[in-house]
Amino acid sequence: MPEYVTDNTTLESLVSLAKRRGFIFQSSEIYGGLGSVWDYGPVGVELKRNIKELWWKSFVRDREDIVGMDASILMHPSVWEASGHLDNFSDPLVQCGSCDRRFRETNVKDKTCPECGGTLGDSRQFNLMFKTFMGPLENTSSVVYMRPETAQAMFVNFDNVQTTSRKKIPFGIAQIGKSFRNEITPGNFTYRTREFEQMEMEFFCEPETDEKWYKYWTEFSRNWFTSHGIRESKIRIRKHTKKELPHYSKASSDIEFNFPWGWGELETISNRSDFDLISHSKKSGRDLSYFDPDKNKRYTPYVVEPAMGADRSALAFLSDAYDEEGTGKQKRTVLRFHPDIAPFQVAVLPLSRNDSLVPTARSIYKSLITKFNTQYDDSQSIGRRYRRQDEIGTPLCVTIDFDTIQKDNSVTIRDRDDMGQIRVDKEKIVEAINDRITRLKKSYNPK
Ligand SMILES: [Zn+2]
Repeated sequence: MPEYVTDNTTLESLVSLAKRRGFIFQSSEIYGGLGSVWDYGPVGVELKRNIKELWWKSFVRDREDIVGMDASILMHPSVWEASGHLDNFSDPLVQCGSCDRRFRETNVKDKTCPECGGTLGDSRQFNLMFKTFMGPLENTSSVVYMRPETAQAMFVNFDNVQTTSRKKIPFGIAQIGKSFRNEITPGNFTYRTREFEQMEMEFFCEPETDEKWYKYWTEFSRNWFTSHGIRESKIRIRKHTKKELPHYSKASSDIEFNFPWGWGELETISNRSDFDLISHSKKSGRDLSYFDPDKNKRYTPYVVEPAMGADRSALAFLSDAYDEEGTGKQKRTVLRFHPDIAPFQVAVLPLSRNDSLVPTARSIYKSLITKFNTQYDDSQSIGRRYRRQDEIGTPLCVTIDFDTIQKDNSVTIRDRDDMGQIRVDKEKIVEAINDRITRLKKSYNPK
């Protein structure tokens, strides 16, 4: 693992870097922005895509016992009655009689509205689901909700997926997709937002084996973060107290990351028992139990759910990778990403835009883009371009100079973490890059 110089990343420095380098922009910025809504730019989308693809690989493609699906955001309103979201997914809020603004009861001191000075009403439960209307009529019969979690689609499709995939219990269904919650107090950059992307897996197992699987998936999830570069010291597991447990859960644990403002949830592993399948069986009239052919018995499976936030994970990887070294003109900001997480693995940099360098640089770039996520950059001085690649966390830069053309047919490979440089024969670049990336990956994962 690369050595870090600083360990006190501030949220301001992350937000500033994210904007400066094209990771994350505020939504609709030219119109003054939309509060707590964010857009991923050309570098950020690569980061988030890497995270989602690595998750999908670990949770679906590398395993025989998990299959994927991709459900719609809009679902039948009965889903949210059966799941308990219509009755229970709410916050106690007080509403101002004059300006209609709502506040968390704990955030106001007395009955006075902090915005307009009006009088606040009594505390009421306000549902956090986004509501909209489906079809040409805007009335109560056409209300639909934007899903507040992806999980329910896996429960209502349990029978469809099980019979078509012919999986036997225990097996899981995984999904990556957007969810929406009308949070009253979003904040901390992309940490708490009203629109967010989830990576959820519902693992269906025999009752009585649920506690074993709950432990298994908690450990598996924790290792997923550390094996992709999150430092052990920045991550911890926190068990929920009985009071914190949501209505469907028998036990839950958070995997927490030490963000610039303190520990915060990255992922929750929940033992949802048979709550969801039983509720949907009752509400829909469709039997969602399972016949176990090996044991010759019928039962409703228990569910263990690792639910991860893709945006929170991206923020955690960004925050953990952030490092600053040196002072004054020598000061350098560098993102020490694991090579699989880094938006780009390689940058190809001709020393200048000199005509004699460009054809060789272009042909090297073309030979690398099919093997690595590679950026070509020929603007500004070479020093500034190295700094730019450091700030987006590119592990390796390949530089083409006049010696490449006139003398030795070799290029420079420059290392992000220690800025060390080696000369490599042009014909052996791919081999040399693979070798260095393999070594860098191993350094994060010595086990
Ligand atoms: Zn008011």
